[in-house]
Amino acid sequence: MNTSDSSMNAGHQQRSVEHSADTTSDWDVVIVGGGAAGLWLLNLLNARGYRAVLCEQTTLGGAQSMASQGMIHGGIKYALGAALTGASEAIARMPERWRSCISGNGEIDLRQVQVVANEYHMWSNGALGKLGSFFASHALRGRVEALAPAAYPDVFKNAQFDGTVHKLHDLVLDVASLLQVLAAPQQNRLIAGQAISANFDESANMQSLTLADGRELRANQFVFAAGAGNSVFCDALKQAGHSHAPATQLRPLHQVFVQHAHLSPLFAHCITGIRRAEPRLTITTHPTPGGGLGWYIGGHLATSGVQRDRDIQIDVTRQELNATLPWIDWNRAEISTLRIDRAEPRQTLGAKPDEACVVRCGNALLCWPTKLSLVPDLGDQVLNAIDPAVDPSASDSSAEQRDSSVEPGAERPIVATAPWLA
Ligand SMILES: Cc1cc2nc3c(=O)[nH]c(=O)nc-3n(C[C@H](O)[C@H](O)[C@H](O)COP(=O)(O)OP(=O)(O)OC[C@H]3O[C@@H](n4cnc5c(N)ncnc54)[C@H](O)[C@@H]3O)c2cc1C
Repeated sequence: MNTSDSSMNAGHQQRSVEHSADTTSDWDVVIVGGGAAGLWLLNLLNARGYRAVLCEQTTLGGAQSMASQGMIHGGIKYALGAALTGASEAIARMPERWRSCISGNGEIDLRQVQVVANEYHMWSNGALGKLGSFFASHALRGRVEALAPAAYPDVFKNAQFDGTVHKLHDLVLDVASLLQVLAAPQQNRLIAGQAISANFDESANMQSLTLADGRELRANQFVFAAGAGNSVFCDALKQAGHSHAPATQLRPLHQVFVQHAHLSPLFAHCITGIRRAEPRLTITTHPTPGGGLGWYIGGHLATSGVQRDRDIQIDVTRQELNATLPWIDWNRAEISTLRIDRAEPRQTLGAKPDEACVVRCGNALLCWPTKLSLVPDLGDQVLNAIDPAVDPSASDSSAEQRDSSVEPGAERPIVATAPWLA
């Protein structure tokens, strides 16, 4: 069975599956998608003896990963409904997990990754009300810490601020440096190309992927970490007979980038007056093209902003900043917006998924970290779900043949530029 049968071809141009001159090679694993998830898995699998390669259609991280705020969080923001859910427990271990890698003691060496903030804050103008006692409760002990004014981030050291600031043990990474560090040791295993269709055998096992330029990638196993691009292969797997292949969902966001001559670094959620388990504003700070600092803002402003056009979103941003940080003159801010979708396995009523998701369909794994923070958890799930690597000592291939390098001199995908620098 193969996808030259139109029912298998996921709506893309049909291609023959005869393995002839355009066959690149045989691998243990082909990973589709070079965001944070795919690059993490490429490192993990090659370190465990798999001959794994990754194909990326544009730039590394150029979809969700580089647009993310880079927060490695323990899920406290999901507990803002004043109850700890299973979700917040599942994610709670992630900051420590990343910290181990950053100190060189984890499963992947991330010592060269730039940590832009080693803690995260949460502020409320005025009294915190019920949330205050929740933060002080036993359930959150050690995870949320009330700060004395002397320890506030600079922006709150202002006589007009009469609220509270809490510290979270979360961290913020420079995502570009994360992707560089993950890609650097794997350069020879990166393939520039867009996977457009999958080819199956009679048992609905995937045999190969066809790239847009006609090359074919054959492997024993396939891992899809392509974000929004996974949906084509979910459909193909379903049509091949894997009826449990998940459907996908996109959750749109309308993010904002604010530049102002007098911004100081701020990494904080604003929780003033919130009535849902979502911060009003989620702010991270990044360098601007002009050498200054800009605030990248998500949270409720970005989810509710999906309904607003660019100009109205900019007006609402100014109103929100005036309401929550009124001592800064926001009329002098330069504000731009970015529309970007989160790509996830479909949830009931389009809800936010709680955990990383890996679904096995024959020899293919469909993967979504659902959060940058959960990429290590995704790695664990993939290692549990994937078939063991062929033991090199049991194979008659030489060590050189088992190296998963793709042709020397071939074009390699490069790391994307952050949207606010582009
Ligand atoms: C605005 C925003 C802010 C966020 N902030 C945070 C945060 O602060 N903390 C957090 O934990 N999470 C955050 N997230 C979520 C996080 O960014 C994502 O969960 C994570 O980056 C997903 O990584 P990924 O590698 O699965 O997907 P992606 O980064 O989307 O990578 C998928 C890659 O696959 C490639 N691809 C697609 N189709 C094909 C194909 N057919 N062939 C070859 N390549 C293909 C794409 O070009 C892309 O490079 C945020 C998300 C958004 C949108």
